[in-house]
Amino acid sequence: MYKKRRLWVAAYLTEGFWLGMKSNQQSESLNSCLHLHLDGEMTLVDVILHYENAVVCICENEARDDYTASQSLPVPVTSSRELEIAASQVFTPANFYMLQDDLRKIGGMEIVEIKLGDGSQQYIMAWKNNRKSRFWVEYALVNSAETIRCSCRRMIRKGLPCKHIFHVLKYLNISEIPKCLVRVRFTKEARLGLAREAHK
Ligand SMILES: [Zn+2]
Repeated sequence: MYKKRRLWVAAYLTEGFWLGMKSNQQSESLNSCLHLHLDGEMTLVDVILHYENAVVCICENEARDDYTASQSLPVPVTSSRELEIAASQVFTPANFYMLQDDLRKIGGMEIVEIKLGDGSQQYIMAWKNNRKSRFWVEYALVNSAETIRCSCRRMIRKGLPCKHIFHVLKYLNISEIPKCLVRVRFTKEARLGLAREAHK
């Protein structure tokens, strides 16, 4: 079973939030960052100082990326112009360009069935050229707060909405990105607060 793990492990990771990363890519990335300029002669104090410097370096890179993102807005190129502009305002450029690619493709999908439930609607989606594989998107509006889920679970795994959700938003003439589709990034202050809570 262990040798064949590539065949079954993925099924156990569909509910996890991995930012789209696979295997130990996340820890390897952090390791490579911390291992830079690290050597066996260092004392424990040196290692702690090195760790702090590495974290400052990561924060500086993040701040530089935030600044660059705040100074530029991508040009809309798809037929879903309003959604595309709204997405460019709430997602980082790297995520936005991935979503822009998805927005280009939503014309190839269609809603094949709508099920009206108690306070929610379910939209069954399929590709126009392949009606066999279907996805469902559930949309609910409770106390002016929207909840949107898709059976492909991309929002859970990667923290980004999928083509199916975008198709339904366009169908419903929604031109803003609902708050439930935007992951809130922790600020530096919030991260420090969490660290303090963990030490208590
Ligand atoms: Zn989906």
